[in-house]
Amino acid sequence: MVQQASVNLKTAYGNFEFAAFSDSSEDLMPHLALVNNPSPTDKPMNVRIHSECITGDLFGSCRCDCGEQLSASMDYISKNGGMVIYLRQEGRGIGIINKIKAYNQQDLGFDTAEANKNLGFEYDARMYDEAISILEYYNVTKINLLTNNPDKLEAFKQSKVEIIKRIPLEINPHSDNKKYLKTKKEFFGHLLELV
Ligand SMILES: [Zn+2]
Repeated sequence: MVQQASVNLKTAYGNFEFAAFSDSSEDLMPHLALVNNPSPTDKPMNVRIHSECITGDLFGSCRCDCGEQLSASMDYISKNGGMVIYLRQEGRGIGIINKIKAYNQQDLGFDTAEANKNLGFEYDARMYDEAISILEYYNVTKINLLTNNPDKLEAFKQSKVEIIKRIPLEINPHSDNKKYLKTKKEFFGHLLELV
């Protein structure tokens, strides 16, 4: 996987270098990196690895906290420097069509983990290797990771990238996403204190 193209992008949060990474320049769904004021390579870089959630990130869905997490990350990184890596693994890696089907399961009373399992998928099919490749492309060896997800911390143990500290990214729960966040905490072990 290589950087296919990059450009300076002014956003509502601040200025970023916006870059697309994929194996092929014809790839219509490349991973994305938004880099703001990278710290010198001897200092840890603030990094958010965000998996695509089109309903939450783009359309303001209240079913999850993804959109608010992305927004809080963009805000934090524009103020403190660092990088948002946007991985194209919609719906914990099952794609938007299957995520819609999983939402139908949730409407029947299953939680987010059971819904994926009922459809024949892993509870969480996300991979983080490509995020690690993107960090390696930028010669980043030390990071502060914005996450509540212990699996992401685990994913770095076999890599050359060292996590110096975890920066919590907790969003205030509301009535529509409370059950989802409770499953994240109790089933997936996410480090959440507000739910
Ligand atoms: Zn989401």
